[in-house]
Amino acid sequence: MDCQKLAERLLPGNYPKLSYYEEIYPPRAIEKNAEVTRLAPSPTGFIHLGNLFVAIANERIAHQSGGVMYLRIEDTDDKRRVEGAVEAVKNALRYFSVRFDEGAEIDGDNTYAPWYQRQRAEIYRAFVKDLIVRGKAYPCFCTEEELSALRDEQTNEKKITGYYGEYARCRNLTEAEIFRNLDAGKPFVIRLKSAGNPENKITFRDEIKGEITVTENDQDVVILKSDGIPTYHFAHAIDDHFMRTTLVIRGEEWLSSLPIHIELFSVLGFDRPRYGHNCSLMKQDGETRRKLSKRKDPELSLEFYRQEGYFPRAVRVYMMTLLNSNFEEWYQKNPEKPLEEFPFSVKKMGKSGALFDLDKLNDISKNELSRLTAEETFDFLKAWADEYGSDEEKGYFKNREYLIKILELVMGTNGKKRRKDIMTARQAMEIVGYFFSKGERQDEYRTDKQTKVRILNAFLATYDYNDDAQVWFSKLKEVAASLGFAAEMRDYKANPEAYKGNVSDVAEVLRIAVTGRANTPDLWTVMQILGAEETKKRIQGETV
Ligand code: GLU
Repeated sequence: MDCQKLAERLLPGNYPKLSYYEEIYPPRAIEKNAEVTRLAPSPTGFIHLGNLFVAIANERIAHQSGGVMYLRIEDTDDKRRVEGAVEAVKNALRYFSVRFDEGAEIDGDNTYAPWYQRQRAEIYRAFVKDLIVRGKAYPCFCTEEELSALRDEQTNEKKITGYYGEYARCRNLTEAEIFRNLDAGKPFVIRLKSAGNPENKITFRDEIKGEITVTENDQDVVILKSDGIPTYHFAHAIDDHFMRTTLVIRGEEWLSSLPIHIELFSVLGFDRPRYGHNCSLMKQDGETRRKLSKRKDPELSLEFYRQEGYFPRAVRVYMMTLLNSNFEEWYQKNPEKPLEEFPFSVKKMGKSGALFDLDKLNDISKNELSRLTAEETFDFLKAWADEYGSDEEKGYFKNREYLIKILELVMGTNGKKRRKDIMTARQAMEIVGYFFSKGERQDEYRTDKQTKVRILNAFLATYDYNDDAQVWFSKLKEVAASLGFAAEMRDYKANPEAYKGNVSDVAEVLRIAVTGRANTPDLWTVMQILGAEETKKRIQGETV
């Protein structure tokens, strides 16, 4: 076989010498232990929690070591590409403070560009051509139908499926056969001529999982598709070599492809980066644990957290908690410190499935938000409402002072013990909503209508906006006593049959009349914020 001639026919034209790429993409001038890491998403428009999980780890490792984190777009599969997806990736990660130094649409050094794989086609082809010249790759003309028939045959015979060994038909085509196929215009892909033997095991040190043993690859995997674009495997080897990645932290779903990657790096003559395969995010579903699923779990999508208005730092804190086993303890001791000060360590990353629990995130979120000032909360909520709020909710932000007063009430003022009611921006809108319009009543009165009306009228008769909280409450007690309710809790407890109820039942009626809810922060303060006129109007509305 004249491999040179074959290579020329398959990939005609002059490609740069391979050493040229080594020159234009030289080893990076960085400190010895600095790590070069990356996030390499496909632009499918769906950016998920798994991406963020791995991105945070990569980001921490790079920046903590004084290295570089870059964004590469793996767009080799054109069918899955979605318009605007790269912007979406960038925005989503920026929201969670994942900072890239270089990469697609990042304002940074472009020595190692292009960052989109489709724009790197020439580099891949140059290396594929060289592999053909060296007899390490060959064209395959098998059609989809033939491959699927092969799969069926292998399945029936209980053999491993794929294109390998005796099944790799096109591996043995003669030069004449190949040229005849090419002359007939048959489409072809280029496959690696694997030299591996599945009898051989390779022991491999994974940075996260430790020592693992994998079986040598013997699959003649496709490296260049019929459209001249490489497969993920081949692009990965070329790109991580020429972008000078030192450490690949990626999802453990790639572990099964590792033997292919090991062979590719070897046949290309490249040193491998180190790998760490990160555990998947799992969810407790009844008795079983399963991977988070795109179809079943809205919380897998990063968009979910923005739409709901999770405080980004809370999500980051939770991801860190899942990523490093000693983070939680560190954070408890150092709640005020920037998260970047935590000494992140690959060694502390989990070896198997991390359980993702939305309730836990909700608790963290409440906690994080309770540490903001009312001013900071206002800014966070407003940014959310500008993007996701209804028109009515957007209106809440017109009067800054008014909403700040509400937030101070809802959250408790700084210094004092803070309430932890606010979990997300969306839910905060519900919490503050009744200060803007009474809206639908959410809780039912527990007294009969006549008693309710009596209570409200009696209260209105004594109500004075200028009363302080004590006076206000003693008037409420008088109202209670005048209508047969116990003014003092201890009297009521001593002799419940003697009363219709107690002062807290009276307060509840008033609370529902004013806010539509049975649970609110301090009612006197609520009335103070609403103002005399609005308070009276709302109560009067309930007396008819
Ligand atoms: N494009 C792959 C993905 O989206 C990247 C895998 C890797 O990090 O090597 O999962």
